[in-house]
Amino acid sequence: MTIDELVLDHEAAIRLGLFFSVLAAIAFWEVIAPRRALTVSKAMRWTNNLGLVALNTIILRLLFSAAAVGMAAVAGGQGWGLFNHFQLPFWLAVALSVIAMDFVIYLQHVMVHAVPMLWRLHRVHHAELDYDVTTGARFHPIEIILSMLIKVATIMVLGPPVVAVLIFEVLLNATAMFNHGNVRIPGPVDRVLRWFVVTPDMHRVHHSVEDDGANSNFGFNLPWWDRLFGTYRDQPRAGHQGMIIGIHRYRDPRQVDRLPGMLALPFVGRIMGYAINRREWNGPGAGAGHEVR
Ligand SMILES: [Zn+2]
Ligand SMILES: [Zn+2]
Repeated sequence: MTIDELVLDHEAAIRLGLFFSVLAAIAFWEVIAPRRALTVSKAMRWTNNLGLVALNTIILRLLFSAAAVGMAAVAGGQGWGLFNHFQLPFWLAVALSVIAMDFVIYLQHVMVHAVPMLWRLHRVHHAELDYDVTTGARFHPIEIILSMLIKVATIMVLGPPVVAVLIFEVLLNATAMFNHGNVRIPGPVDRVLRWFVVTPDMHRVHHSVEDDGANSNFGFNLPWWDRLFGTYRDQPRAGHQGMIIGIHRYRDPRQVDRLPGMLALPFVGRIMGYAINRREWNGPGAGAGHEVR
């Protein structure tokens, strides 16, 4: 049996096993060394967030039965994509594939903040009033489908080894749960970790109600893209205890922390002031007949 067949046969079991192991480990860490006091009941948030995760898992399996690793196998068989054209050492192809896919996720994350329609979807991830390990897996089903389509397109262009796609997905899943953890890490350790992985303190800045905080630290896994592209912010303005998490006009737990409210969130309200073409022009001519919103 080749490594590809092994990955294809056990992909779901590997991912599920790692998901629950990492979830349990971070959840335990949150109990013994929490970073912030939670404001909404954990039982309520966990039931609804994990309910959304279960729903997304079912939708993805129904729509994409072979998932991303299946797409990599097809690309390999057909000779599609960059890495199926150039013969690189296997380990190098795996490493470069994981890094390239992570870069695409970074760009996708910037895009869902900038484009008003996509920000509607991505708001579901940001609307939560607290920040813990389950926040990391909380995305609207339509955003999950969009992510999968982008991933499939990326795999067709890139032609990564099947095992690279599995490593990437497992790694992203694990780091997303880690960096949404409500866990306390000593400052000096955090500073060192930040050179290799997005830490909880780094990503928490991105969940601030403040626009410039939310428009920082888009990385989910590798921390380099934010530094390289100028979207890095060291700490939240009000500190990690004082900062307000969420979206400032959506503060009702029944809307932002219950499953029906989360599913409906993309379709309510207007997008004002935040997405890229809704910023106000405050220079000369502002208010002189210009429609700014
Ligand atoms: Zn975001
Ligand atoms: Zn996040």
